[in-house]
Amino acid sequence: MPVRATKRGADRTRLEHDCDVLVCGASFAGLAVARELAGTGARVLVVDRYEIGERQTSACGIPTSWLSALDLGASLQQSFDALVVHTPFRTSRWPLPWSFSTFDYRELCALLWAQADSPTLEFETATVTGRSGNVVQTDRGELSAPLVVDGLGWRRVLSNEMPIQPPRARLSRGLEVHPAGRGSEMELWLDAGYVRAGYSWSFPAGEELRVGVGSFWPTHHVKEPTVRLAHDLGLAASGYQGNWIPHQLRRAVEDDVFFVGDSAGHCLPLTAEGIRTALYFGLACGRELRTVLEGRRTREQALASYSAFSDAHARKFRWLLALQRAVGQITPSRATSALVRAFENRRLTRWAFSHYLAIAPPSFASAAGSGRRSLSASASRRMPSSIAGSARLA
Ligand SMILES: Cc1cc2nc3c(=O)[nH]c(=O)nc-3n(C[C@H](O)[C@H](O)[C@H](O)COP(=O)(O)OP(=O)(O)OC[C@H]3O[C@@H](n4cnc5c(N)ncnc54)[C@H](O)[C@@H]3O)c2cc1C
Repeated sequence: MPVRATKRGADRTRLEHDCDVLVCGASFAGLAVARELAGTGARVLVVDRYEIGERQTSACGIPTSWLSALDLGASLQQSFDALVVHTPFRTSRWPLPWSFSTFDYRELCALLWAQADSPTLEFETATVTGRSGNVVQTDRGELSAPLVVDGLGWRRVLSNEMPIQPPRARLSRGLEVHPAGRGSEMELWLDAGYVRAGYSWSFPAGEELRVGVGSFWPTHHVKEPTVRLAHDLGLAASGYQGNWIPHQLRRAVEDDVFFVGDSAGHCLPLTAEGIRTALYFGLACGRELRTVLEGRRTREQALASYSAFSDAHARKFRWLLALQRAVGQITPSRATSALVRAFENRRLTRWAFSHYLAIAPPSFASAAGSGRRSLSASASRRMPSSIAGSARLA
């Protein structure tokens, strides 16, 4: 088991904070929210159980245009303009209308954190255990803020509804290994020999390969097939990482809390692509919070607006879930090979992948609506008194 960087022993002092915005979770979703608050003058506290960038849980593949749009190009490791897709009967090469890239997780998190930088931004390691109203309980003490964000991943820790319990919940599961090695192709396997309903992958990322298996069915185990796929590729099964992956949209707002990324089920069904969407909804949430901090909206208006924004994507998420179920059903049959072959057609891939990218387009990152601008002291003076008044650190 790797030892993760976090505060331990005597360093784990008592932590009791009042702040303007409390962002729980410092991965894609939480950091995207924080970057949108730069320059507001608001006291923003970001907490995570580990140091920022410490615990990678994904293969870190993303449309390259999202890295450029967010100025995260320095984290890029390798780019691919085609997908090589294997079935037991056929190997096809899908030409992509836009490229995918792999990136370095630690570097990307560091870049997002640098973009969030502000004298009133703080980070602390703490494990979040629950919430009562706007008070968040952690293993180091209670934190409170009028604006609270849950970017804590699939467990949705700040929800006070029924706990999400695998394997019964609407979750997929994924596991991968990161052996040293090099490759030039981004590869997928639709092969029931590895996973009955789901897919397997190999994503090259510079000096390592990220090789894994994802099952749409949470009851199906993925460790043995992951080890076997690595073995079949002549690779060592070293450097494990895995997680549950929500494949159904959840409520983006509960009580007065904003839920972003996997906690809101923002990971796309079928592909399990959740980084782009965690960034996308994180930016949307951060922009809403900013309107409150600037006195342009009340918290309630921002909650309603963010909730409506997330819900507006429900139809597309439902479509992808229906496709996920259909692909899961046909995986062992020869129909999979016919489907995979159809996507060798450049017009079909252009159509399908353009629609797919449009679910969370890179243009959103650089949209005119972005509130990220350097706010002067006058802007922070315009903070509503309810927020400004609570912005004292204990
Ligand atoms: C094996 C695998 C491979 C994947 N590959 C890809 C891929 O290539 N591309 C892609 O787009 N998606 C991929 N995904 C999906 C993607 O990883 C998630 O959708 C994405 O990480 C969601 O981001 P997030 O910020 O919402 O949550 P997370 O990345 O899960 O971050 C949650 C954060 O909260 C912290 N946290 C959790 N609980 C607590 C607590 N109680 N107290 C304090 N802190 C806590 C965690 O330490 C973490 O920093 C993959 C998933 C898996 C499992």
